[in-house]
Amino acid sequence: MKLDQIIKTFVVPSGKTISLKRDYDPAYTADYLNKEDAQKMLQDGIEQLAKYQDILYAQNTYAVLIIFQAMDAAGKDSTIKHVMSGINPQGCQVFSFKVPSAEELDHDYLWRYFKALPERGRIGIFNRSYYEEVLVVRVHPEILERQQLPSAAKGKGIWERRFDEINNFEKYLVSNGVIVLKFFLNLSKQEQKKRFLKRINQPEKNWKFSSSDVRERAYWDDYMAAYEDVFNHTSTKWAPWYVIPADHKWFTRLSVAAVIDRTLESLNLQYPTLSQEHRQELLEAKEMLESETGDAE
Ligand code: ATP
Ligand code: MG
Repeated sequence: MKLDQIIKTFVVPSGKTISLKRDYDPAYTADYLNKEDAQKMLQDGIEQLAKYQDILYAQNTYAVLIIFQAMDAAGKDSTIKHVMSGINPQGCQVFSFKVPSAEELDHDYLWRYFKALPERGRIGIFNRSYYEEVLVVRVHPEILERQQLPSAAKGKGIWERRFDEINNFEKYLVSNGVIVLKFFLNLSKQEQKKRFLKRINQPEKNWKFSSSDVRERAYWDDYMAAYEDVFNHTSTKWAPWYVIPADHKWFTRLSVAAVIDRTLESLNLQYPTLSQEHRQELLEAKEMLESETGDAE
């Protein structure tokens, strides 16, 4: 299978029920690919992305919102770093969402994400996102208790309601020119353990390790169930989820870059064309510049 076809298999089909365990292998790598070939392909993907971004920025019609969700140590940070390495920083922004502040808790749950949306022409990355509101908040019900919600909003059916709200929110974004791409970096529990141990054993990686990560790991099954429910309710035609194998970082990066490239390609982006009037202005400016006298060349 070509990479283009492979990445199609990572999409969670809208309206179907998937099982993470049965349908998505965290250790998958296309067997014909080796790490070196993949490196070269990633490099090409990054260059292509830079070209699309240039047009996206010039055209100033679409924005692209890229969401990353994953368990700890799945490689969100390093995927963002590698995949975005070729693009113009002016056209890109990254927001990492942590535990909400008191001010944020005093607003509706989409508020802080809404404020961070990319402007037209930009690529905006959410390192964690409003999906935490149906993931960590679901796995730890005491977080919901801290949200100052009326009791009806907290009650029965809350997760279905939030799924609907999120789907509607994303539909609104897409119909207004914000393309929404959602990636789940699908790491296995064994590989997470290996990466945690590496963070503990290598001094230069110690800063990445927090003991709360190990505490969260104890909730692994609850998280997987919550993620599955998220995919089954919020992978829509307008904003699909991609479940990306994450046990091999080189394959994660390649796949993410390929999905972003294909999505940008499908937008058929175009540099703006000049109006007759604007063209005339350019010609006049050119004439003025060329007829300047007295300047040293
Ligand atoms: P890294 O560990 O790679 O630096 P990270 O994204 O895990 O990055 P942390 O500071 O370790 O960053 O963790 C952020 C924490 O904030 C996560 O445990 C996440 O679940 C939590 N969080 C994010 N959004 C919310 C939210 N809306 N409500 C409650 N907790 C949240
Ligand atoms: Mg963390």
